[in-house]
Formats: sequence, C-alpha cells, structure tokens
Amino acid sequence: MTTMLRSYVQGRWVEGQGTLATLVNPATEEPLARTGTGGIDFAAALGHARGGAPALREMTFAQRGEVLRAWSKALHAHRDELIGLAIANGGNTRGDAKFDVDGAIATIAHYADLGAQLGSVRALRDGDAVQLGRTARYAGIHLWVPRDGVAVHINAFNFPAWGTAEKAAASLLAGMPIISKPATSTALVASRLAELGIETGALPPGSFTFLAGGPGDLLDRLGPQDVVAFTGSSQTAAKLREQLARRGARLNVEADSLNAAVLGPDVTPDSATWDLFVADVVRDIIQKAGQKCTAVRRIFAGPQLDAVQEALVERLSAVKVGDPARSEIGMGPLSTADQLRDVRAGIGKLAREAETLIGGDKSVETKGYFVAPTLLLARDPAAAAAVHRDEVFGPVATLCAVPGDSAQAAAQLAAGLVQRGGGGLVCSVYSDDRDFLRAFVLAVAPYHGRIYLGSEKVAGQTMGPGTVLPQLVHGGPGHAGGGEELGGLRGLQLYSQRVALQGDRALLDSIAPAPEKQ
Ligand code: NAP
Repeated sequence: MTTMLRSYVQGRWVEGQGTLATLVNPATEEPLARTGTGGIDFAAALGHARGGAPALREMTFAQRGEVLRAWSKALHAHRDELIGLAIANGGNTRGDAKFDVDGAIATIAHYADLGAQLGSVRALRDGDAVQLGRTARYAGIHLWVPRDGVAVHINAFNFPAWGTAEKAAASLLAGMPIISKPATSTALVASRLAELGIETGALPPGSFTFLAGGPGDLLDRLGPQDVVAFTGSSQTAAKLREQLARRGARLNVEADSLNAAVLGPDVTPDSATWDLFVADVVRDIIQKAGQKCTAVRRIFAGPQLDAVQEALVERLSAVKVGDPARSEIGMGPLSTADQLRDVRAGIGKLAREAETLIGGDKSVETKGYFVAPTLLLARDPAAAAAVHRDEVFGPVATLCAVPGDSAQAAAQLAAGLVQRGGGGLVCSVYSDDRDFLRAFVLAVAPYHGRIYLGSEKVAGQTMGPGTVLPQLVHGGPGHAGGGEELGGLRGLQLYSQRVALQGDRALLDSIAPAPEKQ
C-alpha cells in the first residue's frame, strides 16, 4: 500500500490534487508513496509565510535556538524511523541513512547551540564599533538583520534529511520564515522530518511551510527581500538564475563539483597517511552510491600510481552491491531510474578518454537502479576533457596520473589539473610534506570552498572530506555554483542584510546591543 504525502501550507496539512508523482524503493522499484502539489494556492501560501516573519524577528537568538533544539530532539527520538525511510526510499545502506539523518540532527543542534550562545540579542554585530568623529560619541557599527522576506529552500534528492535541516537551521536562527521543497523522488524522509518539526509546536505560525512536490508559480511571486537557497544540478541552477534575476530575489546555488583527492609524492604505502587516503577515497566512491556532492570524482597520484590502482581496485572489488535492506550489503542502488540512465551515460563518456579498471556502465541486477563501483584511469589527464567537466553522480571516479619529479613540480602539476574542474566544493590532499602542501594548497585555494588536509597527525580523527560540517563553510566557486552555506554564524548571512548604522554610540548600543557572548 502506498502512502499519500502531504504539504504543509497556511498552517494545515493538505494533499495535492491532479497529477501525482510516485516515489519508489530504488532497490526493488516497488511504489512507496504518491505526492503532488496540484491545487495549492501558492500566492496564499507565500502570504501566510510572510506573516511568520514578525514573530521570528521578535524572538531573541536564544528563543530561535530553542525552536531548533526542540526539532533536533524530536528527530533524535524518531531516528530509527527516519533511517528506515531513507533505506526504503533513498537506496541507502543503514550507514548511508545514518550519515544523512545524524547529519540533520547534529546540524540543527549546532545552530541551536549558537542561538543559546548569542542569548538575548536579535541582530548580529559584524565587527567592533568604529569611531567616526572627534570624540568616541560619534560612531558606526555594522549589523546583520534578517531580510524582510521568505526563504525558499529547494533541495536535491541525495540528502533529504540533512539538506532540509541545514538550510532550515540557518534560516530560522537568522529570523527568516521558510518554504521548504525537497526533491520529489526521495521526499519521504524530508516529509517526516517536516512533520516532526511541526509536531513540536515550537515553530511560530507561518515560519515553516513544506511543499511535497513542485513549486508551482511560487518563484514568480518572489521579490528582492526573498532568498532562494538551491541545491541541485547546474542545469536547474541556470534556469533559476534567469528566472530569479527578473524578480530581484537573492539566489544561493550549491551545484555540481568535480572534487579531487590528491596524494602527495612523499606518501608511502606503509604509512598512516596512505591508509587514510585509501579509506577516504573508497568511502567517497561507495557511500550513498557516490551520490554526494562532495564525493571524490578525480584522484591524482604520481610515483605511487600503480600501488594506488592496486589498493583501490582490491577494496572496491570487495564491495557487495545489492538491496541495502540486507545488512551484508556495502552499497545500494542509485536513487532513481533517471539517475541510473545519467550515470551509465556518464561512465560511457568517461570511458572514451580513460581506461575502465573496475565496474562500468552495465546494470548490476535486473530490478532496481544498480551500478557497480567504477574506477577509471586517465594516464594523460591533461589531454582529458570529460574527466574535468562532467560530474557523474554515482559510484564513479577517475584515477589520474600526475608526472613531476620534485615536490614543487608535483604540486604545480597537480594544482593545474585540479583547477581544470572549474571550481569545486572540496579538495582533499594527503601528505606530510609541508613544502608540498603549502605550494599545493595556496594554488588550489581560490578554486574551492573547502580544502581537507589529510596527514598522519589527523588520521585517527577525521570523517573524511565528504562530510560537511556545520562549523565550516559549504559551497564553492564556479562550477560548484558560487554559493556558500553553513560555517557557523556565517551561514546566517545568506538570510540577512548587512547594514551600517552611524550616530551617537550610546543610541546605537541601545538599538542593537552587542551579544552577551559571541
Ligand atoms: P535537480 O534535478 O536540479 O533538482 C534539484 C531540485 O530542484 C529538486 O528539488 C527539483 O524538484 C528542483 N527543481 C527542478 N527543476 C526546477 C525548477 N524549474 N524550478 C524549481 N525547482 C526545480 O538536481 P538533483 O538531480 O535533485 O540533484 C543532483 C545534483 O545536485 C547533483 O548534480 C549534485 O552535485 C547536486 N548537489 C549539490 C550539493 C551541494 O551542496 N553543492 C548537494 C547535493 C547535491 P523535483 O525533484 O520536484 O523535480
């Protein structure tokens, strides 16, 4: 029996009318739920959400933090149920599902903590006051205030819990009401997460709207105080940029990324740094069947190329692919039939310029959207094009040979190849050679939102480059969309307007007191 998902608009749960989408279990293709947003009055929904802004703005950061705390606790109390839904609707193994669900809980809890730390203020100070006149009396301050609009969140199919939660946490703490729209194909988890938030009773009326399907004409109704935070493909992002430029709404884009993992020439196969590199790369290829925006797509190695190839092929050959409801399975299917088609086509393109070492574009089972972990080898990556351009959103990566006989030359050559990705979310580099790292990191830094330095000193402590942490910014320039989210309080800036106030210092302090602790 399939469930009917509902949207939460104007303070009520409603079922969509007309054409409905069917959500399936991607391992079995069995239908699980149906959903749609036909019949929803988007103008009225938007009006109701706008009505939620004054109440949120009136709350202190500590009070907004309490709303988040209640939500995070509710998710924690229903963790197993959410994990079960992610296994069924997302093709997730239990480990993949925990990654999404626990990431959601931890990120909301992190923003709840930040709210508690900011205490009784309602607007964030940016830097210290500056003296503008002859005396300290005439001064200026910079302030981040919540934008006077609605934040529309459009999420990708791969992280229905975490994606919904990370955007919601930053918006609510900043003081902006939300209209949240998950990807339709995996909306079961996001829908339950939304229900649990509403059921806390902590969200002020209007502050949270949930659309279990398409956004109708909502985006054409937005204005300059509104924000759209989008995560998804570059193609959809391009459409939204055009559409929203006409409306003047602010748009943040988190899109594709050809993330690179680079092995320093100093790292030998018997070292902790080597083990970390191999473990991180294998995890990134198979976790969530490679459907992570931060997953490594290009692996660069120099003198150790043959040993890297051998280690990765050995580890990937041992991965059991199948229905993730079975505990022995190490990797589940792709999330949708469209994904399967796109990934197989993407592997085909890569295989025209790189040699397939393991896996390939054949389907693995007759039912379900399975592909095998796939590793290719580009012996001359400088001559490759698709390897640096096309994100194949599945368990697929290309090992690339980096020539260069000195650390300095290797750093320069690797950096040049990494930059060919046109801007990424995260680049990981593994080395214990400080000169190599300094040269490499500074060369690739302008092309990334985050750089992960794997070394023997951190080997026992990291969760790998693929884990997005609420403390650090997430996003990247160029190909990755140019957006930025998270990064602790930095994540509130997307939903805020920075304003300079100048005048009598005592007056400024009374209008916008500095936080008690920050
Ligand atoms: P997608 O097809 O672009 O869809 C993303 C979202 O946009 C979905 O919610 C989709 O809704 C919605 N959408 C599609 N067309 C729209 C339109 N014309 N107007 C408004 N909304 C529209 O991407 P996807 O296949 O779900 O996600 C995979 C991509 O996301 C990958 O390329 C991956 O790299 C990227 N991604 C990036 C990050 C990051 O943080 N940078 C994180 C995760 C994923 P429906 O589902 O209802 O069509």
